[in-house]
Amino acid sequence: MKTLYLKYGKEDSLRRFHPWVFSGAIHHFDEQPEEGELVRVCTGDGDFIAIGHWQIGSIAVRVLSFEEEPVNENFWQIRLQHAYEARLAIGVAGNPDNNTYRLVHGEGDNLPGLVIDIYGKTAVMQAHSVGMHVCRQEIATALMKVMEGVIDSIFYKSETTLPFKAALGQENGFLIGNASDNVAVENGLKFHIDWLKGQKTGFFVDQRDNRSLLEHYSKGRSVLNMFCYTGGFSVYAMRGNAKLVHSVDSSAKAVELVNANIDLNFPGDARHAAFAEDAFKYLDEMGDNYDLIILDPPAFAKHKDALRHALKGYTKINQKAFEKIQPGGILFTFSCSQAVNKDQFRLAVFTAAAQAHRKVRILHQLHQPADHPINIYHPEGEYLKGLVLYVE
Ligand code: SAH
Repeated sequence: MKTLYLKYGKEDSLRRFHPWVFSGAIHHFDEQPEEGELVRVCTGDGDFIAIGHWQIGSIAVRVLSFEEEPVNENFWQIRLQHAYEARLAIGVAGNPDNNTYRLVHGEGDNLPGLVIDIYGKTAVMQAHSVGMHVCRQEIATALMKVMEGVIDSIFYKSETTLPFKAALGQENGFLIGNASDNVAVENGLKFHIDWLKGQKTGFFVDQRDNRSLLEHYSKGRSVLNMFCYTGGFSVYAMRGNAKLVHSVDSSAKAVELVNANIDLNFPGDARHAAFAEDAFKYLDEMGDNYDLIILDPPAFAKHKDALRHALKGYTKINQKAFEKIQPGGILFTFSCSQAVNKDQFRLAVFTAAAQAHRKVRILHQLHQPADHPINIYHPEGEYLKGLVLYVE
């Protein structure tokens, strides 16, 4: 295996088990590796520190192990087994009411660059690093062993998550099996999952717990689910006996998906309607009859440079919601931008409340669920933030 030597003193974060080597910390290689190749990482003095996947970019190495051990099918099997055991312990796996969960959450499961979501008998696997792409078949074989009798297909979906410059010629498709049944169950509710064309792996698994909380507040309320995508929050609001539920998304495809998911669970129920509209326009033009509003926008800031603009965006949509929501209304508001931290998001929402002149209480502070764990040595893994607010 080729060896990477760090600049002197650049090993501190690795000694604290942070799983990344930034390109600026590299002194030299004994021999230049290929993108995606495994490398040994050593200090300037040649002491072993870690093994990881190398690629071109600011995050140059994603660490797989801090021990000198072979990374082979057995290695993947052990890591995947640990991930599965954690999901069984949490209760999202091995549960007849729920077969929709994240099995592998990158750094959070000590597998940086890899995401695996489970939808019934299908696993959808996504590589975010060239190294994981190179290892995809080996990982798939190990996954079938760990999940024997639980899954029968693995769909690989990395067309948009890999650096395009690496020119890997990756295509989306089945690595194993060929499942056509795409209905999965989350907390007893059914959802069509479109892993072929949908966003991410086909569904936003990370809002499961927050949807449950919303269900609890829905009774008798008029609900607006803004940025609804597949309508997760809408379906839970319906089960929670909402008076009416309106789902809005700028994508016509999302409106089709939410309607299909409502039909699957509440066929012919006239309490629901969906609209393909831009959020800003809808919030401007809507009346003031909603008393439960969900704002779950896409990541406004994908990078640190977009931060100021993103914070303004959060303030703007939240202000519109505060202006229109009924007295005694409840607002579920989220940010999934990694670049925006909890305090910045709070400040954006507080600014919005003040500008709308409303009295607001924080009822809950929300985050990502237990199947999207945060590696204690990698605080960057915390990305989903939410507030549930009572608006007087
Ligand atoms: N709440 C969803 C996930 C939302 S993803 C869930 O629980 O599954 C963000 C969604 O916002 C996407 O479906 C995207 O189509 C939509 N979107 C992006 N920009 C928008 C805009 N300006 N107005 C309305 N919807 C928008």
